[in-house]
Amino acid sequence: MMKLRFVITAGPTREYLDPVRFLSNPSSGRMGFSIARAAARRGHEVVLVAGPVQLRTPKGVRRVDVSSAREMLGAVETALAENGGKDAASTFFIATAAVADWRPKRMAAEKLKKGEMSGVLELVRNPDILKSVKGARKIGFAAETGAKLDEAVRKCREKSTEMIVFNDVTSPGAGFGTATNRVTFVHASGKLETLPLMSKQAIGARIVRFCEGLEKCPKT
Ligand code: C5P
Repeated sequence: MMKLRFVITAGPTREYLDPVRFLSNPSSGRMGFSIARAAARRGHEVVLVAGPVQLRTPKGVRRVDVSSAREMLGAVETALAENGGKDAASTFFIATAAVADWRPKRMAAEKLKKGEMSGVLELVRNPDILKSVKGARKIGFAAETGAKLDEAVRKCREKSTEMIVFNDVTSPGAGFGTATNRVTFVHASGKLETLPLMSKQAIGARIVRFCEGLEKCPKT
């Protein structure tokens, strides 16, 4: 089997409004770390770009820690540019991170006083890392509340991904911080593959095997 290259994002991002306050979300990083571990176990080269999480780096994985969405984008672009002789067909970008879609327009240099807070939270859009990245086959995630599979199909096309891994974060045993997840693979062709409740580690292995299968097909 050919050695593939994986660049994987995991965890939340933090968007600071002053040195002690930020916008974020409860992503634990477990899903992305599980994919990274599975890929390294199969002998692939793995760069894991991690937001602030409390997890140990899997063996054989190179980890780059970041905080904001813009830092995450920069680290992903650097990792993809470093691509040691691998072409885009055998390089996989897997966007597992729960990236903050918005950031405060300004970050105050000093801690804001209570009296200074009202009306200061003006937000601007963050870059969409998955959408903007080029030079790799891409896999995205879609966390929704409810079974909004049509949203995942739309995302798959809009972000030019090979597949979107859909998960309903309100489904029992699924979602942020759990060891298990219930996902549906939404393929670019529109084909749906619904998996039962599984450990995030087993789902990670399934995603890596999907990539290994794709490597044999020419990149479109
Ligand atoms: O559009 P939505 O945020 O639901 O898309 C989710 C997918 O896009 C995930 O794979 C996520 O990692 C990725 N994403 C990203 N950069 C953003 C927002 C989402 O890479 N700013």
